[in-house]
Amino acid sequence: MINSSLKTLAQMLANKEISSVELTQTFLNRIDAYNPVINAYIALDHEKTLAQAKAADVRIAAGNATPLTGIPIAQKDIFCAEGWKTTCGSKMLENFIAPYDAHVITQFDHAGAVNLGKTNMDEFAMGSSNETSYFGGVKNPWDFTRVPGGSSGGSAAAVAARLCAAATGTDTGGSIRQPASLCGFTGLKPTYGVVSRYGMIAFASSLDQAGPMAKSAEDCALMMNVMAGFDERDSTSLNRDKEDYTRELYNSNPNKPLQGLRVGLPKEFFADGLDAGVATVIEDAIAEYKKLGAEIVEISLPNTGLSIPVYYVLAPAEASSNLSRYDGVRYGHRASEYTDLMDMYCKSRAEGFGAEVKRRILIGTYVLSAGYYDAYYLKAQQIRRLIAQDFEVAFKKCDVIMGPAAPSTAFKAGEKVDDPVAMYLQDIYTISTNLAGLPGMSVPAGFATSADGKPLPVGLQIIGNYFDEARMLNVAHQYQQVTDWHAQAPTLDKPEGNA
Ligand code: GLN
Repeated sequence: MINSSLKTLAQMLANKEISSVELTQTFLNRIDAYNPVINAYIALDHEKTLAQAKAADVRIAAGNATPLTGIPIAQKDIFCAEGWKTTCGSKMLENFIAPYDAHVITQFDHAGAVNLGKTNMDEFAMGSSNETSYFGGVKNPWDFTRVPGGSSGGSAAAVAARLCAAATGTDTGGSIRQPASLCGFTGLKPTYGVVSRYGMIAFASSLDQAGPMAKSAEDCALMMNVMAGFDERDSTSLNRDKEDYTRELYNSNPNKPLQGLRVGLPKEFFADGLDAGVATVIEDAIAEYKKLGAEIVEISLPNTGLSIPVYYVLAPAEASSNLSRYDGVRYGHRASEYTDLMDMYCKSRAEGFGAEVKRRILIGTYVLSAGYYDAYYLKAQQIRRLIAQDFEVAFKKCDVIMGPAAPSTAFKAGEKVDDPVAMYLQDIYTISTNLAGLPGMSVPAGFATSADGKPLPVGLQIIGNYFDEARMLNVAHQYQQVTDWHAQAPTLDKPEGNA
């Protein structure tokens, strides 16, 4: 049951083979057993969770179920959820109880889904390994000595270890796709503006986007049906007609379901810096796509090499502004001793923020300062435009772009913590899509063996044109009909002290 698709779970609930309370309790039992080791969840509230499951059972019995009614979902701790501790992985918000629901939370609530708990994450979503979390690192379920990726590391580990049926994440530079690659599941970052950011704690507002993290493309499509949609409370939410993201999944040509699909391979994604084991897995996946009928075209994204430097000007600039609200006055951590107002601001921020967040605030403040604005911030905005234009040109030649989602498999905990630039390079293949506002996915494509002999998951990235999520989901889904990489789950060591 823990490996079942969302569709199967919904059928089991509809047929009364299981109740939502039983299903939810199954996941809560696994969480109780494994979370002390894996540390995927920051906040759990069994009472609240089971109350939602009971309500879902009533709704199912009344015949008002939607496809996700009664399904237990893990929520990244970046989403405000009324009455729930909402920390964003920071000491600054350690004791913050959200007084309202984020749009995403409301959408799941309306669908009748069950909130299993709030998942661990890098502090304010800044990181690629979950090691910047104030609440400690998260273990990769495939190898407990390794990181799950970040910043949505808790959601990633929860999906991979089957500590939830599916989860939410956010992706500012790669935080859904990179952990999806490192933990071996399917994750989608939608087109910027498709999912409302209302109540989603802001990191870099022009880049942040929420999306699903799940066991398959079909599950992601069902999640998207709940998450996407216009919301007037987010000024960048796009007012478009409601879509059914499953609509392309079930009507393909059975022999060559992707006949005529033009797949662009950017030569820059297969150059230096890509792990050889990862490259082999991606090449095999491309070969599989050819069998499905896809046609391969070589493309170039010439400015992609600038995406990391551009991102590390723009994202910190926006973060420094967004994080100025944590001043110890209205909410969040306040220093217990201070001499005057200025001293209280300084001490509260010095105590409340961790090292990576402070580094970003310093960089952001610097690049926005009067003397450097033109040289850094403005220049970065100009290059951002060029990066978006690279994609515009590329999409004249192809329908989707494929490549690796991350340059390596999961690395060891502690391996990159003292080298921020090495950590930043984890997002080398994902960041340009955020800068362009395009949708991107990571799809399990196989395993590469580590130096110490562990098979570790590898994700294939699929990048689509604006609003092309339904097609991308089908491109992933057809691959998942002929491969079973997405269905593989780690064998977890029995947690100590638990049967
Ligand atoms: N790893 C990137 C960063 O640290 C991206 C994080 C994210 O997508 N939230 O900023």
